[in-house]
Amino acid sequence: MSREKQAMFFNKIDDLKVHCFLCPHNCIIKPEALGFCKARKNIDGTLYSLNYGKITSMALDPIEKKPLYHFKPESMILSVGTFGCNLKCSFCQNWMIAHENPQLYNITSEQLVKKALELTSNENIGIAYTYNEPSIWYEFIYETAILIKESGLLNVLVTNGFINRKALEKIIPYIDAINIDVKAYTDLFYKDICMAKLKNVKETVEYVATKCHLEVTTLVIPGLNDSAKEIVLLSKWLSSISPKIPLHLSRFFPNYKMREVLPTSKETLENLRKEALEYLNHVYIGNI
Ligand code: SF4
Repeated sequence: MSREKQAMFFNKIDDLKVHCFLCPHNCIIKPEALGFCKARKNIDGTLYSLNYGKITSMALDPIEKKPLYHFKPESMILSVGTFGCNLKCSFCQNWMIAHENPQLYNITSEQLVKKALELTSNENIGIAYTYNEPSIWYEFIYETAILIKESGLLNVLVTNGFINRKALEKIIPYIDAINIDVKAYTDLFYKDICMAKLKNVKETVEYVATKCHLEVTTLVIPGLNDSAKEIVLLSKWLSSISPKIPLHLSRFFPNYKMREVLPTSKETLENLRKEALEYLNHVYIGNI
């Protein structure tokens, strides 16, 4: 059974085209065409979410795996993801579900909440929307997050932060903690490697820091974003928001379209951690 759901955050424009303003790509989508994220489609002049109620991955994970180290430590969280992404990072570590055609399973928000409640006996505290980019699963997450809050559980987003403010403002009251990937601290990296803009991600980080628990992750890729200068600039900026924001420096492994780059050395990560600790109270090395 097809369960496409009419999308939120779009306008109808001329010639049956639509304008999606969920994320800063602001796609203008012709009839029968997909948005940049491949998760939203214009059908006869109306925009639909194609991944509504469809999951590709579900697991009960330690909260530290998100990674969140300063939010409900040592608890577990039911982690779910779907398909699609609004960035095109050539180093994607989850490319099978972000950019390919993975196996899909139908689920309703009610079924997911029931599952989350059943798992509280296994230390589950709620749901983490993760694995692929959750913001382009907006309609399903929004409905599920409301039910999760009503049930007394918690909602976590693990996101690239590339979302427009209006959409973020609407969902943030239901979100308890967020980990945002700041993939690098240069416009060039975001433009050439992710097909996005650093400016929008920074605005999301600055806004979220005032609304709920926030941690930041940067995947450190040799030769691309691993200079001490860049990590110092990133850390100074985060510190200007709050030195208490935990920063996770994560180890890169060759993947997707970036298989020729070697894994990040532990020494590089440790040196960058020392640099970042000049400005931030909590800096962690991950994925070792
Ligand atoms: S959510 Fe998808 S369709 Fe909408 S603007 Fe972003 S990339 Fe385009």
